[in-house]
Amino acid sequence: MAVVTVDPTAPDPAVIAAAAAQLRAGELVAFPTETVYGLGANALDEQAVARIYAAKGRPAWNPVIAHVPSIEAARALAREWPRSAECLAQAFWPGPLTLVVPKASSVPDVATAGLDAVAVRIPQHPVALALLRAAGVPIAAPSANRFTQVSPTTAAHVERSLGARVPLILDGGPCAVGIESTVVDCTGDDVIILRPGMLGRESLEAVLAPLGVVVRHAVRTVAHDTPEQAPNIDTPRSPGMADRHYAPRADVWLFDTHQREEIARSLRQWRQTRREAGQSEAPVHALLRAGPLVETNGELSVGMRYVPMPSCPVDYARALYGALHEADDASAGLVLIEAPPHDPAWDGVRDRLTRAAR
Ligand code: AMP
Ligand code: MG
Repeated sequence: MAVVTVDPTAPDPAVIAAAAAQLRAGELVAFPTETVYGLGANALDEQAVARIYAAKGRPAWNPVIAHVPSIEAARALAREWPRSAECLAQAFWPGPLTLVVPKASSVPDVATAGLDAVAVRIPQHPVALALLRAAGVPIAAPSANRFTQVSPTTAAHVERSLGARVPLILDGGPCAVGIESTVVDCTGDDVIILRPGMLGRESLEAVLAPLGVVVRHAVRTVAHDTPEQAPNIDTPRSPGMADRHYAPRADVWLFDTHQREEIARSLRQWRQTRREAGQSEAPVHALLRAGPLVETNGELSVGMRYVPMPSCPVDYARALYGALHEADDASAGLVLIEAPPHDPAWDGVRDRLTRAAR
């Protein structure tokens, strides 16, 4: 496996051409996007896409996103190009927005997990764009990590998760957005948010309301922490939506700020139980927004790593996966995460935290 550094301000054409040739030859290439690192393969090559699933250990029912360098190339993958898709593409591409549209027959079923719709996106990262232009074929790319693990926001994360399973990693630095794209279904009358991201509902509405198109959330998304709180769960429109996902290896306890004392008590108990079972002391990582959970010199703080998290959603998203990877690398036994405020600007972050805690 090779890791090749690429300057995002001036991607070396020779490196890009070599990576594009590997993609055209049916090989896998991991590359940076503005959201997370992707594990790419020629989306029109059934065997190449199958390699993605094998490398990730990803079940076949989970579709992947096709990345393209232009709206024209996106249209070529669609049987039909809805007006809502055109308006959203014009407004937000290149950017962290994925559009689900009716699939053209040229797209192999393996890329869409047998669904009649395909997910497409133009990413904003210069290395991704250069690679897509040079490849000349759409590139299917889910996040470059083993299935259910935390997505990579650096090349080092990719290397640790996939290792020799990926022959080439392009290192274009850390990802600016930090969580996966917003995925919207454009196949119906309403536009449905299948996966929240940093591009929020209000931004989508600003573009679609003039067309009379309604934007709504699918399934148990952001506002609900537990299935019991979400009585109106749509049938998942896309596989993978209700999974434990984006999760570190440790248990995750997600709690609201007003539950801080309760969490400190539960932590004491958790440690006690482990001690009684003869288990070793495992580090506890605490990702907190409102200061440390306990006094830094107190008994409970021993073995606890306090990770201060940003109070702005954009900075928080950028920092989140790095913090979860750190917990994995430290073999943390437990990750405590103070939930974000109930505000639409936090929808994408809240969605990932909820699924990490499942
Ligand atoms: P990832 O590749 O890990 O970023 O995840 C891709 C996600 O995009 C999937 O889990 C789905 O939520 C969504 N997706 C991809 N393709 C489709 C599709 N054809 N229809 C609906 N959702 C899709
Ligand atoms: Mg993923």
